[in-house]
Amino acid sequence: MLTIIAKLAALLCLFWLPHAHAAITISSARVWPAQEYTRLTLESGQPIRHNLFALQNPERLVIDLEEVEINGALNEIAGKIGDGDPYILSVRVGRFKPGVARLVLDLKTEVKPQLFSLKPVAEYGHRLVLDIYPAVPVDPLMALALKSETLLPETPAAQEGKTAASAPASAPPRPDAGAPPADTATRAADAALPAEPSAAKPGKPPAKSGPEIGNRILIIAVDAGHGGEDPGARGPNGTYEKDITLAISRKLKEMLDDTPGMRGVLTRDGDYFIPLGGRIEKARQVHADLFISIHADAFIKPHARGSSVFALSERGATSASARWLAKKENEADLIGGVNIAVKDPYLARTLLDLSQTATISDSIKLGKFMLRELDNVNTLHRGFVEQAGFAVLKSPDIPSVLVESAFISNPAEERQLNDTRFQEQLAQAILGGIKSYFSQNPPLARQRIAQND
Ligand SMILES: [Zn+2]
Repeated sequence: MLTIIAKLAALLCLFWLPHAHAAITISSARVWPAQEYTRLTLESGQPIRHNLFALQNPERLVIDLEEVEINGALNEIAGKIGDGDPYILSVRVGRFKPGVARLVLDLKTEVKPQLFSLKPVAEYGHRLVLDIYPAVPVDPLMALALKSETLLPETPAAQEGKTAASAPASAPPRPDAGAPPADTATRAADAALPAEPSAAKPGKPPAKSGPEIGNRILIIAVDAGHGGEDPGARGPNGTYEKDITLAISRKLKEMLDDTPGMRGVLTRDGDYFIPLGGRIEKARQVHADLFISIHADAFIKPHARGSSVFALSERGATSASARWLAKKENEADLIGGVNIAVKDPYLARTLLDLSQTATISDSIKLGKFMLRELDNVNTLHRGFVEQAGFAVLKSPDIPSVLVESAFISNPAEERQLNDTRFQEQLAQAILGGIKSYFSQNPPLARQRIAQND
C-alpha cells in the first residue's frame, strides 16, 4: 500500500513540478508599424501574465512578462523595429529578475498604449498585443488634407461641424475641378455637386445652404480588406488577400483622385489591422459618400471563380454561400485582434432603422452598376448583387458594398490578382460603377427626396 502511495506521490510530482518551473516560450514576435498605431504582438503556447507601465524623460514603456523565457524569437523583436516606425525608437529585452523577462520600449513621442491578450484563433496561439497610439489622435480630415498634393477643399459636410464664422465664404476650387469632365457620367456627377450631401442623409439636420458652396468633392472611402495580423484568405501559391486588396485599393484611390469632383480616401494605407467598426468610423469621419470594401474570395474548391459584389442584408442572406462568406469576413476582428475593452457602436447594432433600408437600396444600385463594369473584366461569380450580414457594411447612412474581386483560392485567378494590369482593370471597373451610380443617383436628387418626405 505504502509503495502505491509513494508511486502516486512521485507521479504527482512529475506532473506538478515541471509546471511550477515551466518557462513560457515566445513562438513569434511581430511588429506592425503605422501612423495610426503601431502594434507589437507576442505569440506563445500559453497565456502570459504581464504588467505594463510608462516612464517619462525620456518616454518609455516597460512590459514585464512573467515566466517568459528569453529566446531567439523574443530577442529578434529588437531587429524588427524599423527607422520608419512612428512611435517606437527601439526595444530592449532583458531579464528583470528570476522568472520575469522585461521589454523596454524607447519611444519617439508621448503615446497611449493598450495591452491586451487574445485567445487562440485560426492559426494563432495565445497572443499578447501592445497597441501604441499617438497621445493626440490623428485627425482623418486633416490627414486627408495633408496627404493630398493640394489642400482638400472644405466639403459642406466638413463645414457642418464648424461655426459659420470659421467656415470660409467660398470653398476653394480643386485645381482640376474646372477642367472639362472626362465623360458624361462625370459631368452628371459634377452637375450634382452643389447639393448638400449631409442634408441628403436622413436623420441629419439640413446644413447651412447657399450659393457659396461650390463644387462639392464626392468622397469615396476605399477599404482594403484585412491587413496586419489578419492576412485574409491565402492563395495556393501563397498570395495574401491583404496584399491584393491593398494593391487594388491604392489603384482605385489614385483613379478617384484623378477623376474631377471625386476623391478617394483609404481606410488603411499599409500592412496593419483595422477593426471592422474602425473602418466604418473612418468613412464617417471623412463624411464619405460611398464605402467600397475590396476583398478577394476563397472557397474550399479550387475551381470556384469570378467577381462578385455584396451589400448588407436586413434579414438573412440571399444564399448559403453569401452567409458563409459574411461569417468568414466577419471573423477578421477575431483574427486581426480587437481589444474588447474598447466598445464598437456599429457592430453592436442589431436593429436596422429606416435610414439603413434606404442605404441598402442605394448600395444595391451601386453594386449593380459595378457588376455591369466587372462583367467586362472578369467572369461574374453571380450575375446579381448578393446580400448578407457583413459587419463592415453596417454604416447606417453611407451606401456600402463589398467587392470580391476574384477568387484567390483559384490558381488561375490568384495569378491574375497578382498581375498589375488586372488589378488596374478591376479598379477601373469599380470606378466605372461609381461614376454610373452618381450619374443616376446624384446627391441633389437624394436631398430633394429626403426633404419631400
Ligand atoms: Zn476578405
